[in-house]
Amino acid sequence: MKAFSFTAPTTIKEMNEILANVTTPGEIHPIVGGTDLIEQVKTGRRSPSIVMDIKQIPEMNRLEWVSGEGLHLGAAVSCTDTAAFPLVQESYESIKESCGLIGSVQIQNRASIVGNIANSAPSADSVPSGLVHEASVVLIGPSGTRTIPLEDFFTGPGRNVSKPNEVVLEIILPPPPNNSSSHYLRFIPRNEMDIAVAGVATLLSLAPGSRTCTKARIALASVGPIPVRAKAAETFLEGKDLTNDIIEKAAETAVESASPITDVRGSIEYRKNLVKVLTENTLRMCLNSLNQNL
Ligand SMILES: Cc1cc2nc3c(=O)[nH]c(=O)nc-3n(C[C@H](O)[C@H](O)[C@H](O)COP(=O)(O)OP(=O)(O)OC[C@H]3O[C@@H](n4cnc5c(N)ncnc54)[C@H](O)[C@@H]3O)c2cc1C
Repeated sequence: MKAFSFTAPTTIKEMNEILANVTTPGEIHPIVGGTDLIEQVKTGRRSPSIVMDIKQIPEMNRLEWVSGEGLHLGAAVSCTDTAAFPLVQESYESIKESCGLIGSVQIQNRASIVGNIANSAPSADSVPSGLVHEASVVLIGPSGTRTIPLEDFFTGPGRNVSKPNEVVLEIILPPPPNNSSSHYLRFIPRNEMDIAVAGVATLLSLAPGSRTCTKARIALASVGPIPVRAKAAETFLEGKDLTNDIIEKAAETAVESASPITDVRGSIEYRKNLVKVLTENTLRMCLNSLNQNL
């Protein structure tokens, strides 16, 4: 393991002073739970010169609903605290479900949603849920802040658009649409502590008292180099009265957005079939939550 220095700023100003001297990608790595980073540093997959603990910075611990803006989820908030937040339980079900799937209870107590996103693994369980809720990522550094849609954040496995001297301050989840529900499912060959062979989140919004879809969002994990939205399937659903046939056809259409590889966890065909099954199941879960069972 390559030696590194450790720092733990307690304010944004202190953090930016540290970041101001950083010029090389990977030179500094923030740490929150360390559930990804510690293993990566130990095995040489990441070799930072500086590891920066950001948990003592108050803004990183923000978990707050702001009317008209949505839910601000700071970089240091754990999966456990996110899932326990009443508004997450009521209105961002798929986020709650993702939090409950990451590793184990012990991992969830340490790990953050932002760490899961910043690590940028194609299999990250919180990302499809963030995508269906149209999350945005707030990056901060010595030059100020910038906000980008989560959809535009990833550039490849383990890579994202952050500059070497930027860190994620928070993600913002906008208010969910009226009369909507979201769910996330993944497939792993055992009950827990495994990487998704495929994962799907969906969000459905329905016209009041009906099965008419006013908005659909579908996002896929582990079936391409980066997590993706299944936009053709979303467009197919919107404006339609949802029936069994429509749900099945949407699930088949979602497969077109997947570009999986064959590896030890599953073949291309197996993963495509999982996308179909998980899309159908999560859409039905949304209908169920909206009291519109088929
Ligand atoms: C036993 C085990 C089981 C796991 N199971 C799952 C699972 O089921 N599903 C799943 O998706 N993941 C799983 N993981 C991976 C990991 O737990 C998650 O990705 C977790 O959410 C990472 O959060 P963290 O706070 O621990 O991140 P850290 O390890 O602290 O950081 C992860 C990466 O993100 C960077 N980073 C962290 N915060 C920021 C920031 N604010 N700005 C910029 N970069 C930042 C770090 O530098 C590092 O590169 C598992 C890990 C272990 C060890």
